[in-house]
Amino acid sequence: MTDTTDYLIIGAGAMGLAFADELLTRSDATMTIVDKRSAPGGHWNDAYSFVKLHQPAIFYGVESTSMGRDRVETSGPNAGFMELAEGPEILAYFHALMRDRLLPSGRVTYRPLTEVREDGTLRHVLSGQESRVEVRRKTVDATWYENAVPATHGPKFEVAEGAWVVPPNALPRLAAKAERFVVVGAGKTGVDVCVWLLENGVPADRLAWIVSRDPWFLNRKYTQPGPEFFESTFGNFAAQRRAMAEAANAQELCANMEACGAWLRLDPDVQPTMFHAATISEGELALLRSIRNTVRGRRVGRAEAERVILDDGSEIASSPETLVIDCTTTALPVRDLKPVFAPGRITLQMTRFPMLPFSAAFAAFLEATFETDDEKNGFAQPLPLTDTVNDFIAGLTADMINRYACSKHPAVREWVGNSRLDGYSRIAREIPKDDAARQAILKEVGAAAMAAAGNLGRLTGSG
Ligand SMILES: Cc1cc2nc3c(=O)[nH]c(=O)nc-3n(C[C@H](O)[C@H](O)[C@H](O)COP(=O)(O)OP(=O)(O)OC[C@H]3O[C@@H](n4cnc5c(N)ncnc54)[C@H](O)[C@@H]3O)c2cc1C
Repeated sequence: MTDTTDYLIIGAGAMGLAFADELLTRSDATMTIVDKRSAPGGHWNDAYSFVKLHQPAIFYGVESTSMGRDRVETSGPNAGFMELAEGPEILAYFHALMRDRLLPSGRVTYRPLTEVREDGTLRHVLSGQESRVEVRRKTVDATWYENAVPATHGPKFEVAEGAWVVPPNALPRLAAKAERFVVVGAGKTGVDVCVWLLENGVPADRLAWIVSRDPWFLNRKYTQPGPEFFESTFGNFAAQRRAMAEAANAQELCANMEACGAWLRLDPDVQPTMFHAATISEGELALLRSIRNTVRGRRVGRAEAERVILDDGSEIASSPETLVIDCTTTALPVRDLKPVFAPGRITLQMTRFPMLPFSAAFAAFLEATFETDDEKNGFAQPLPLTDTVNDFIAGLTADMINRYACSKHPAVREWVGNSRLDGYSRIAREIPKDDAARQAILKEVGAAAMAAAGNLGRLTGSG
Protein backbone atom coordinates (compact mmCIF):
# COMPACT_ATOMS: atom_id res chain seq x y z
CA MET A 1 0.00 0.00 0.00
CA THR A 2 1.60 3.33 -1.00
CA ASP A 3 0.17 6.82 -0.37
CA THR A 4 1.57 10.09 -1.68
CA THR A 5 1.99 13.27 0.36
CA ASP A 6 3.95 16.52 0.29
CA TYR A 7 5.08 16.25 3.93
CA LEU A 8 5.32 13.11 6.01
CA ILE A 9 5.22 14.22 9.66
CA ILE A 10 6.46 11.57 12.10
CA GLY A 11 4.95 12.24 15.52
CA ALA A 12 1.54 13.70 16.46
CA GLY A 13 2.74 15.32 19.69
CA ALA A 14 2.83 19.05 20.37
CA MET A 15 5.76 19.51 17.98
CA GLY A 16 4.30 17.65 14.99
CA LEU A 17 0.89 19.27 15.44
CA ALA A 18 2.29 22.80 15.88
CA PHE A 19 4.22 22.31 12.63
CA ALA A 20 1.23 20.88 10.73
CA ASP A 21 -1.08 23.62 11.96
CA GLU A 22 1.15 26.45 10.75
CA LEU A 23 1.99 24.75 7.45
CA LEU A 24 -1.75 24.39 6.86
CA THR A 25 -2.14 28.14 7.31
CA ARG A 26 0.86 29.12 5.20
CA SER A 27 0.75 26.72 2.25
CA ASP A 28 -1.46 24.48 0.14
CA ALA A 29 0.63 21.41 0.96
CA THR A 30 -0.76 18.00 1.82
CA MET A 31 0.48 16.23 4.94
CA THR A 32 0.40 12.75 6.38
CA ILE A 33 0.83 12.63 10.16
CA VAL A 34 1.89 9.28 11.54
CA ASP A 35 2.13 8.28 15.19
CA LYS A 36 2.57 4.96 16.93
CA ARG A 37 0.19 6.13 19.67
CA SER A 38 -3.55 5.72 19.24
CA ALA A 39 -4.45 9.42 19.59
CA PRO A 40 -2.96 12.85 18.92
CA GLY A 41 -1.17 14.72 21.75
CA GLY A 42 1.98 12.62 22.19
CA HIS A 43 3.13 12.11 25.77
CA TRP A 44 0.15 14.04 27.15
CA ASN A 45 -1.89 10.86 26.44
CA ASP A 46 0.09 9.10 29.18
CA ALA A 47 0.39 11.96 31.66
CA TYR A 48 -0.83 11.72 35.25
CA SER A 49 -4.27 13.26 35.76
CA PHE A 50 -3.01 16.15 37.90
CA VAL A 51 -0.24 17.23 35.51
CA LYS A 52 -0.30 20.90 34.57
CA LEU A 53 1.69 22.91 32.09
CA HIS A 54 4.40 24.82 33.85
CA GLN A 55 3.91 27.80 31.54
CA PRO A 56 0.70 29.77 31.11
CA ALA A 57 -1.67 27.97 28.73
CA ILE A 58 -2.20 31.11 26.72
CA PHE A 59 1.05 30.57 24.79
CA TYR A 60 1.18 26.79 24.50
CA GLY A 61 -0.21 24.53 21.77
CA VAL A 62 -0.48 25.54 18.12
CA GLU A 63 -0.41 28.94 16.48
CA SER A 64 -3.98 29.06 15.12
CA THR A 65 -5.93 28.10 18.22
CA SER A 66 -5.84 29.51 21.75
CA MET A 67 -5.39 27.24 24.70
CA GLY A 68 -6.83 28.36 27.99
CA ARG A 69 -9.12 31.25 28.69
CA ASP A 70 -6.65 34.03 29.35
CA ARG A 71 -7.72 34.06 33.01
CA VAL A 72 -5.82 34.71 36.21
CA GLU A 73 -6.10 31.87 38.73
CA THR A 74 -7.71 32.79 42.03
CA SER A 75 -6.79 29.86 44.26
CA GLY A 76 -3.96 27.44 44.99
CA PRO A 77 -0.22 28.10 44.85
CA ASN A 78 -0.56 29.63 41.36
CA ALA A 79 -3.09 32.25 42.54
CA GLY A 80 -2.57 35.64 40.93
CA PHE A 81 -0.95 34.18 37.79
CA MET A 82 -2.29 33.26 34.38
CA GLU A 83 -3.91 29.85 34.25
CA LEU A 84 -1.96 26.67 33.58
CA ALA A 85 -3.86 24.09 31.54
CA GLU A 86 -4.37 20.70 33.18
CA GLY A 87 -3.54 17.40 31.45
CA PRO A 88 -7.12 16.55 30.34
CA GLU A 89 -7.55 20.04 28.86
CA ILE A 90 -4.28 19.76 26.94
CA LEU A 91 -5.28 16.41 25.55
CA ALA A 92 -8.80 17.61 24.63
CA TYR A 93 -7.19 20.59 22.85
CA PHE A 94 -4.98 18.38 20.66
CA HIS A 95 -7.80 15.92 19.96
CA ALA A 96 -10.11 18.79 18.91
CA LEU A 97 -7.38 20.30 16.75
CA MET A 98 -7.09 17.07 14.76
CA ARG A 99 -10.85 16.54 14.58
CA ASP A 100 -12.02 20.08 13.93
CA ARG A 101 -9.21 21.73 11.99
CA LEU A 102 -6.57 19.42 10.53
CA LEU A 103 -8.73 16.58 9.18
CA PRO A 104 -11.62 18.75 7.87
CA SER A 105 -9.07 20.72 5.81
CA GLY A 106 -8.95 17.75 3.44
CA ARG A 107 -5.17 18.19 3.20
CA VAL A 108 -4.18 16.22 6.29
CA THR A 109 -4.18 12.44 6.60
CA TYR A 110 -3.68 11.02 10.09
CA ARG A 111 -2.42 7.50 10.66
CA PRO A 112 -2.45 6.58 14.34
CA LEU A 113 -1.06 3.31 15.73
CA THR A 114 1.51 3.37 12.97
CA GLU A 115 5.25 3.31 13.53
CA VAL A 116 7.74 4.72 11.06
CA ARG A 117 10.81 2.51 10.96
CA GLU A 118 14.42 3.49 10.27
CA ASP A 119 14.12 2.45 6.61
CA GLY A 120 11.04 4.67 6.16
CA THR A 121 8.47 1.87 6.04
CA LEU A 122 5.31 2.25 8.07
CA ARG A 123 4.04 -0.57 10.21
CA HIS A 124 0.62 -0.67 11.81
CA VAL A 125 1.32 -1.63 15.41
CA LEU A 126 -1.80 -3.80 15.78
CA SER A 127 -2.25 -5.49 12.41
CA GLY A 128 1.45 -5.53 11.51
CA GLN A 129 0.48 -4.36 8.04
CA GLU A 130 3.34 -2.57 6.26
CA SER A 131 3.07 0.33 3.85
CA ARG A 132 5.08 3.19 2.38
CA VAL A 133 4.37 6.85 1.85
CA GLU A 134 5.87 8.54 -1.18
CA VAL A 135 7.03 11.96 0.00
CA ARG A 136 7.03 14.71 -2.62
CA ARG A 137 8.71 17.38 -0.50
CA LYS A 138 10.01 16.51 2.95
CA THR A 139 9.90 14.14 5.87
CA VAL A 140 9.46 16.00 9.15
CA ASP A 141 10.94 14.33 12.20
CA ALA A 142 8.77 15.45 15.11
CA THR A 143 10.13 12.79 17.44
CA TRP A 144 13.35 14.54 18.49
CA TYR A 145 11.84 15.43 21.85
CA GLU A 146 9.85 12.26 22.26
CA ASN A 147 9.08 12.50 25.97
CA ALA A 148 9.63 9.60 28.28
CA VAL A 149 7.17 9.55 31.19
CA PRO A 150 7.13 7.25 34.25
CA ALA A 151 3.90 5.57 33.11
CA THR A 152 5.54 4.30 29.92
CA HIS A 153 9.17 3.93 31.00
CA GLY A 154 9.21 2.60 34.56
CA PRO A 155 11.68 3.35 37.38
CA LYS A 156 15.43 3.74 36.97
CA PHE A 157 15.94 1.58 40.08
CA GLU A 158 15.35 -2.02 41.01
CA VAL A 159 12.02 -2.94 42.56
CA ALA A 160 11.92 -5.97 44.84
CA GLU A 161 8.80 -8.04 45.41
CA GLY A 162 6.58 -6.48 48.05
CA ALA A 163 7.76 -2.90 47.41
CA TRP A 164 4.88 -0.59 46.57
CA VAL A 165 6.26 1.44 43.65
CA VAL A 166 3.92 3.25 41.26
CA PRO A 167 4.07 5.98 38.60
CA PRO A 168 2.34 9.28 39.47
CA ASN A 169 -0.69 8.20 37.39
CA ALA A 170 -1.68 5.79 40.19
CA LEU A 171 -1.30 8.31 43.02
CA PRO A 172 -4.83 9.80 43.16
CA ARG A 173 -6.32 6.28 43.30
CA LEU A 174 -3.93 4.90 45.94
CA ALA A 175 -3.03 7.87 48.14
CA ALA A 176 -5.81 7.26 50.66
CA LYS A 177 -4.50 3.73 51.30
CA ALA A 178 -0.90 4.80 52.02
CA GLU A 179 0.54 5.65 55.42
CA ARG A 180 3.71 7.28 54.14
CA PHE A 181 5.09 8.46 50.81
CA VAL A 182 8.54 8.45 49.23
CA VAL A 183 8.82 10.64 46.15
CA VAL A 184 11.82 9.74 43.98
CA GLY A 185 12.98 12.51 41.63
CA ALA A 186 13.10 16.31 41.63
CA GLY A 187 12.24 17.19 38.05
CA LYS A 188 8.91 18.72 37.06
CA THR A 189 7.11 15.42 37.77
CA GLY A 190 8.60 14.99 41.26
CA VAL A 191 7.68 18.58 42.08
CA ASP A 192 4.11 18.03 40.83
CA VAL A 193 3.74 14.94 43.01
CA CYS A 194 5.03 16.65 46.18
CA VAL A 195 2.82 19.68 45.56
CA TRP A 196 -0.22 17.48 44.89
CA LEU A 197 0.27 15.55 48.14
CA LEU A 198 0.81 18.67 50.26
CA GLU A 199 -2.01 20.64 48.63
CA ASN A 200 -4.33 17.71 49.29
CA GLY A 201 -3.62 17.75 52.99
CA VAL A 202 -0.88 15.14 53.45
CA PRO A 203 1.27 16.40 56.35
CA ALA A 204 4.85 17.09 55.25
CA ASP A 205 6.20 14.72 57.90
CA ARG A 206 4.56 11.74 56.13
CA LEU A 207 6.62 12.47 53.08
CA ALA A 208 10.26 11.76 52.13
CA TRP A 209 11.74 13.26 48.97
CA ILE A 210 14.80 11.93 47.17
CA VAL A 211 16.50 14.78 45.33
CA SER A 212 19.51 13.37 43.51
CA ARG A 213 20.45 16.78 42.09
CA ASP A 214 19.12 20.11 43.29
CA PRO A 215 17.44 22.00 40.45
CA TRP A 216 17.34 25.67 39.57
CA PHE A 217 13.75 26.65 38.84
CA LEU A 218 12.41 29.52 36.76
CA ASN A 219 10.16 31.79 38.81
CA ARG A 220 6.66 31.74 37.34
CA LYS A 221 6.13 35.29 38.57
CA TYR A 222 8.21 36.55 35.64
CA THR A 223 6.81 34.33 32.87
CA GLN A 224 3.44 36.06 32.74
CA PRO A 225 2.55 37.20 29.21
CA GLY A 226 -0.61 39.24 30.05
CA PRO A 227 -0.50 43.04 29.54
CA GLU A 228 -1.39 43.55 33.21
CA PHE A 229 1.93 41.89 34.12
CA PHE A 230 3.97 44.06 31.74
CA GLU A 231 5.96 46.04 34.33
CA SER A 232 6.83 43.00 36.38
CA THR A 233 7.61 40.62 33.48
CA PHE A 234 9.48 43.01 31.22
CA GLY A 235 11.11 44.76 34.17
CA ASN A 236 12.47 41.38 35.19
CA PHE A 237 13.56 40.58 31.62
CA ALA A 238 15.75 43.70 31.81
CA ALA A 239 17.07 42.62 35.21
CA GLN A 240 17.84 39.11 33.90
CA ARG A 241 19.76 40.49 30.97
CA ARG A 242 21.72 42.80 33.27
CA ALA A 243 22.44 39.77 35.46
CA MET A 244 23.83 37.98 32.38
CA ALA A 245 25.84 41.03 31.32
CA GLU A 246 27.43 41.54 34.73
CA ALA A 247 28.38 37.94 35.59
CA ALA A 248 32.06 36.98 35.37
CA ASN A 249 31.32 33.25 35.26
CA ALA A 250 28.48 30.71 35.48
CA GLN A 251 28.45 30.72 39.30
CA GLU A 252 27.98 34.47 39.33
CA LEU A 253 25.30 34.18 36.68
CA CYS A 254 23.32 31.85 38.97
CA ALA A 255 23.77 34.21 41.93
CA ASN A 256 22.66 37.20 39.84
CA MET A 257 19.65 35.39 38.41
CA GLU A 258 18.59 34.41 41.91
CA ALA A 259 19.18 37.91 43.27
CA CYS A 260 16.87 39.44 40.65
CA GLY A 261 14.19 36.86 41.49
CA ALA A 262 14.25 35.08 38.12
CA TRP A 263 15.59 31.79 39.48
CA LEU A 264 14.58 29.89 42.59
CA ARG A 265 16.13 27.01 44.50
CA LEU A 266 14.92 24.60 47.13
CA ASP A 267 17.47 25.38 49.82
CA PRO A 268 19.49 28.60 50.04
CA ASP A 269 22.40 26.58 51.46
CA VAL A 270 22.58 24.07 48.61
CA GLN A 271 24.02 25.09 45.23
CA PRO A 272 21.89 23.47 42.48
CA THR A 273 23.65 21.56 39.69
CA MET A 274 20.64 20.83 37.48
CA PHE A 275 18.89 23.21 35.13
CA HIS A 276 15.91 21.77 33.25
CA ALA A 277 13.99 25.06 32.99
CA ALA A 278 11.17 23.75 35.19
CA THR A 279 8.99 26.66 36.26
CA ILE A 280 7.38 26.97 39.68
CA SER A 281 5.66 29.64 41.72
CA GLU A 282 6.91 30.94 45.04
CA GLY A 283 3.78 29.37 46.57
CA GLU A 284 4.84 25.95 45.29
CA LEU A 285 8.37 26.57 46.54
CA ALA A 286 7.03 27.29 50.03
CA LEU A 287 5.18 23.96 49.96
CA LEU A 288 8.31 22.11 48.80
CA ARG A 289 10.40 23.74 51.52
CA SER A 290 8.01 22.41 54.14
CA ILE A 291 9.29 18.88 53.41
CA ARG A 292 11.89 18.30 56.11
CA ASN A 293 12.83 14.77 55.10
CA THR A 294 14.62 15.62 51.86
CA VAL A 295 17.47 13.28 50.97
CA ARG A 296 19.98 15.05 48.75
CA GLY A 297 22.74 13.96 46.41
CA ARG A 298 21.80 10.28 46.32
CA ARG A 299 19.84 8.06 43.97
CA VAL A 300 17.63 5.12 44.77
CA GLY A 301 19.30 1.83 43.89
CA ARG A 302 16.61 -0.59 45.02
CA ALA A 303 13.19 -0.37 46.64
CA GLU A 304 12.22 -3.21 48.97
CA ALA A 305 9.15 -3.75 51.13
CA GLU A 306 10.85 -2.61 54.36
CA ARG A 307 13.52 -0.20 53.07
CA VAL A 308 14.64 1.95 50.20
CA ILE A 309 18.35 1.44 49.52
CA LEU A 310 20.28 4.41 48.15
CA ASP A 311 23.30 4.24 45.83
CA ASP A 312 25.77 4.96 48.67
CA GLY A 313 24.41 1.99 50.63
CA SER A 314 22.41 4.09 53.10
CA GLU A 315 18.75 3.30 53.67
CA ILE A 316 15.40 4.91 54.29
CA ALA A 317 12.93 2.90 56.31
CA SER A 318 9.92 1.81 54.32
CA SER A 319 6.97 -0.53 54.84
CA PRO A 320 4.37 -2.28 52.70
CA GLU A 321 2.12 0.72 53.45
CA THR A 322 4.67 3.20 52.11
CA LEU A 323 3.84 4.32 48.60
CA VAL A 324 6.99 4.99 46.55
CA ILE A 325 6.21 7.28 43.63
CA ASP A 326 8.61 6.92 40.74
CA CYS A 327 9.44 10.24 39.09
CA THR A 328 12.89 9.21 37.85
CA THR A 329 12.26 9.18 34.11
CA THR A 330 14.29 11.74 32.17
CA ALA A 331 11.52 13.32 30.12
CA LEU A 332 13.76 14.81 27.49
CA PRO A 333 17.05 13.03 26.90
CA VAL A 334 19.87 15.29 25.66
CA ARG A 335 20.66 14.44 22.02
CA ASP A 336 23.16 15.70 19.45
CA LEU A 337 21.84 18.64 17.48
CA LYS A 338 21.24 18.59 13.72
CA PRO A 339 20.47 21.41 11.30
CA VAL A 340 16.68 21.89 11.39
CA PHE A 341 16.49 22.06 7.59
CA ALA A 342 18.39 19.53 5.46
CA PRO A 343 17.72 18.14 1.99
CA GLY A 344 14.47 16.19 2.11
CA ARG A 345 14.26 16.36 5.91
CA ILE A 346 13.21 18.74 8.68
CA THR A 347 14.24 17.81 12.22
CA LEU A 348 12.12 19.85 14.64
CA GLN A 349 14.21 21.13 17.52
CA MET A 350 14.08 24.03 19.97
CA THR A 351 15.20 27.29 18.33
CA ARG A 352 13.82 29.64 20.99
CA PHE A 353 14.46 29.03 24.70
CA PRO A 354 12.52 27.22 26.20
CA MET A 355 9.65 27.27 23.69
CA LEU A 356 9.12 23.99 21.90
CA PRO A 357 5.73 24.53 20.18
CA PHE A 358 6.85 28.02 19.08
CA SER A 359 9.95 26.47 17.52
CA ALA A 360 7.90 23.91 15.56
CA ALA A 361 5.41 26.49 14.25
CA PHE A 362 8.28 28.81 13.35
CA ALA A 363 9.92 26.01 11.34
CA ALA A 364 6.68 25.63 9.35
CA PHE A 365 6.58 29.36 8.68
CA LEU A 366 10.20 29.30 7.46
CA GLU A 367 9.54 26.22 5.33
CA ALA A 368 6.59 27.92 3.63
CA THR A 369 8.33 31.28 3.22
CA PHE A 370 11.92 30.67 2.07
CA GLU A 371 13.42 28.64 -0.74
CA THR A 372 16.76 27.33 0.46
CA ASP A 373 17.70 25.38 3.57
CA ASP A 374 20.57 27.80 4.24
CA GLU A 375 18.19 30.76 4.37
CA LYS A 376 15.86 28.91 6.76
CA ASN A 377 18.64 27.64 9.01
CA GLY A 378 19.94 31.21 9.28
CA PHE A 379 16.96 32.03 11.52
CA ALA A 380 16.74 28.77 13.36
CA GLN A 381 19.90 27.24 14.70
CA PRO A 382 18.99 24.50 17.19
CA LEU A 383 19.49 25.03 20.91
CA PRO A 384 20.75 22.26 23.17
CA LEU A 385 18.38 20.90 25.78
CA THR A 386 19.52 22.10 29.15
CA ASP A 387 20.75 19.73 31.82
CA THR A 388 23.18 22.13 33.50
CA VAL A 389 23.71 25.88 33.73
CA ASN A 390 26.47 25.55 31.10
CA ASP A 391 23.89 24.13 28.67
CA PHE A 392 21.65 27.09 29.48
CA ILE A 393 24.46 29.47 28.54
CA ALA A 394 25.10 27.61 25.26
CA GLY A 395 21.37 27.67 24.51
CA LEU A 396 21.09 31.33 25.32
CA THR A 397 23.90 32.15 22.92
CA ALA A 398 22.11 30.36 20.06
CA ASP A 399 18.78 31.88 21.15
CA MET A 400 20.18 35.40 20.95
CA ILE A 401 21.76 34.77 17.52
CA ASN A 402 18.37 33.52 16.25
CA ARG A 403 16.51 36.48 17.74
CA TYR A 404 18.96 38.91 16.17
CA ALA A 405 18.62 37.28 12.73
CA CYS A 406 14.81 37.37 13.05
CA SER A 407 14.81 41.04 14.03
CA LYS A 408 16.71 41.96 10.85
CA HIS A 409 14.25 40.42 8.35
CA PRO A 410 10.93 42.27 7.93
CA ALA A 411 8.75 39.22 7.13
CA VAL A 412 10.25 37.11 9.90
CA ARG A 413 10.04 39.99 12.37
CA GLU A 414 6.40 40.42 11.44
CA TRP A 415 5.60 36.72 11.95
CA VAL A 416 7.38 36.54 15.31
CA GLY A 417 5.79 39.81 16.41
CA ASN A 418 2.31 38.39 15.75
CA SER A 419 2.97 34.91 17.05
CA ARG A 420 0.63 33.70 19.78
CA LEU A 421 3.18 31.08 20.81
CA ASP A 422 5.95 33.63 21.29
CA GLY A 423 3.99 35.00 24.22
CA TYR A 424 5.85 38.25 24.73
CA SER A 425 6.71 39.94 21.39
CA ARG A 426 3.08 40.74 20.63
CA ILE A 427 2.64 42.46 23.98
CA ALA A 428 5.79 44.48 23.42
CA ARG A 429 4.77 45.60 19.95
CA GLU A 430 1.28 46.62 21.18
CA ILE A 431 2.69 49.14 23.68
CA PRO A 432 1.67 52.57 22.28
CA LYS A 433 4.58 54.74 21.16
CA ASP A 434 3.39 57.53 23.48
CA ASP A 435 3.39 55.29 26.56
CA ALA A 436 6.70 56.71 27.79
CA ALA A 437 7.01 54.61 30.94
CA ARG A 438 6.47 51.25 29.19
CA GLN A 439 8.56 52.25 26.19
CA ALA A 440 11.40 53.06 28.63
CA ILE A 441 11.19 49.51 30.04
CA LEU A 442 11.35 48.06 26.52
CA LYS A 443 14.38 50.20 25.76
CA GLU A 444 16.02 48.97 28.92
CA VAL A 445 15.40 45.34 27.89
CA GLY A 446 16.97 46.00 24.47
CA ALA A 447 20.05 47.72 25.88
CA ALA A 448 20.57 45.05 28.54
CA ALA A 449 20.17 42.29 25.92
CA MET A 450 22.99 43.81 23.86
CA ALA A 451 25.23 43.91 26.93
CA ALA A 452 24.28 40.32 27.84
CA ALA A 453 25.06 39.08 24.31
CA GLY A 454 28.47 40.74 24.55
CA ASN A 455 29.25 38.87 27.77
CA LEU A 456 28.08 35.40 26.78
CA GLY A 457 31.49 34.36 25.40
CA ARG A 458 33.01 34.98 28.85
CA LEU A 459 30.37 32.79 30.50
CA THR A 460 30.57 29.88 28.04
CA GLY A 461 32.09 26.82 29.69
CA SER A 462 32.88 28.70 32.92
CA GLY A 463 30.57 26.67 35.17
C1 LIG B 1 5.13 16.83 32.79
C2 LIG B 1 5.54 17.68 31.63
C3 LIG B 1 5.17 19.03 31.58
C4 LIG B 1 5.58 19.83 30.53
N1 LIG B 1 5.19 21.16 30.51
C5 LIG B 1 5.59 21.94 29.46
C6 LIG B 1 5.22 23.34 29.39
O1 LIG B 1 4.55 23.87 30.26
N2 LIG B 1 5.65 24.07 28.34
C7 LIG B 1 6.45 23.52 27.35
O2 LIG B 1 6.81 24.20 26.40
N3 LIG B 1 6.81 22.23 27.42
C8 LIG B 1 6.41 21.43 28.43
N4 LIG B 1 6.80 20.13 28.47
C9 LIG B 1 7.77 19.66 27.46
C10 LIG B 1 7.16 18.86 26.32
O3 LIG B 1 8.25 18.10 25.91
C11 LIG B 1 6.73 19.68 25.14
O4 LIG B 1 5.84 20.69 25.50
C12 LIG B 1 6.01 18.88 24.05
O5 LIG B 1 4.87 18.23 24.60
C13 LIG B 1 6.89 17.90 23.37
O6 LIG B 1 6.14 17.37 22.29
P1 LIG B 1 6.77 16.38 21.25
O7 LIG B 1 5.81 16.30 20.14
O8 LIG B 1 8.16 16.78 20.92
O9 LIG B 1 6.95 14.98 22.05
P2 LIG B 1 5.89 13.84 22.38
O10 LIG B 1 4.70 14.35 23.06
O11 LIG B 1 6.67 12.76 23.08
O12 LIG B 1 5.44 13.31 20.94
C14 LIG B 1 6.28 12.59 20.07
C15 LIG B 1 5.40 11.58 19.36
O13 LIG B 1 6.20 10.89 18.40
C16 LIG B 1 5.73 9.56 18.33
N5 LIG B 1 6.79 8.75 17.73
C17 LIG B 1 8.08 8.63 18.16
N6 LIG B 1 8.76 7.82 17.33
C18 LIG B 1 7.90 7.42 16.37
C19 LIG B 1 8.02 6.59 15.23
N7 LIG B 1 9.17 6.03 14.90
N8 LIG B 1 6.92 6.37 14.47
C20 LIG B 1 5.72 6.95 14.78
N9 LIG B 1 5.57 7.77 15.83
C21 LIG B 1 6.64 8.01 16.61
C22 LIG B 1 5.41 9.20 19.77
O14 LIG B 1 4.47 8.15 19.84
C23 LIG B 1 4.84 10.52 20.31
O15 LIG B 1 3.43 10.53 20.28
C24 LIG B 1 6.40 19.29 29.51
C25 LIG B 1 6.78 17.94 29.55
C26 LIG B 1 6.35 17.13 30.59
C27 LIG B 1 6.77 15.68 30.61
